[in-house]
Amino acid sequence: MLARARELGRRTIEGLLRLLYPPTCHVCGDRLPEGRRMGLCSACWRTVELVKHPWCAACGRQLERKEIVDPRGENLCLDCRLDPFPVILRGTARYREPLVKLISEFKYDFWSSLADQLSNLFVERAHALFGSWRPDLVIPVPLHVKRFRWRGFNQSLLLARRLAAHWGAELAEPLARTRNTIPQVSLPLDMRLTNVAGAFTVTDEPSITGRRICLVDDVSTTGSTIQECGRMLREAGAAEVRAYVLARP
Ligand SMILES: [Zn+2]
Ligand SMILES: [Zn+2]
Repeated sequence: MLARARELGRRTIEGLLRLLYPPTCHVCGDRLPEGRRMGLCSACWRTVELVKHPWCAACGRQLERKEIVDPRGENLCLDCRLDPFPVILRGTARYREPLVKLISEFKYDFWSSLADQLSNLFVERAHALFGSWRPDLVIPVPLHVKRFRWRGFNQSLLLARRLAAHWGAELAEPLARTRNTIPQVSLPLDMRLTNVAGAFTVTDEPSITGRRICLVDDVSTTGSTIQECGRMLREAGAAEVRAYVLARP
């Protein structure tokens, strides 16, 4: 209820602001083309660095030149050669500017209408990154209820909804975050897995058993959250778990 009221308030304020100030690009400040309410102009949008083949076949990270063994086939990054990432993970773009700024506004400043430009890109790249693979279920990484109330929306759910529609898969939310963890971005890398350990619970096990699942999140840096959610889903009987995020380092 509160979330809906906040969403309505935000849309009203956005509408008023658009009348007073025509929308401009978040990066260069140029006027945006007619019909686009926010985001980046075409020139700045082209500076978003997509993850392009070859990426790591396990963790999806963009490979450095020295890590590429077979330019046409599958390759693993140096980390995954030692200890392969347990969930097949793919990311749309590299977590660098201007995407860092865009995602932090999408996430923390309530500008949920940025979601259009970001989720379009997310959906458009899915085919290149997953080929013909399709899940039965698309599941967003959940926010803790307290953070959801404060933010008013779950950015991962917005992405997951679009992706599920694109793939003709079911959208489900059978995971809950039971512990309000410290935001991963504010923690040193070696503390992130312990920060999310035991933070999630499966609320609807029958919906998971035997299904192929794609987990969705906005950013994955160390992959700890994806790893933990993947573990929960597999324990609940998922046939296969892969994950797709908007940004990877
Ligand atoms: Zn621009
Ligand atoms: Zn890797």
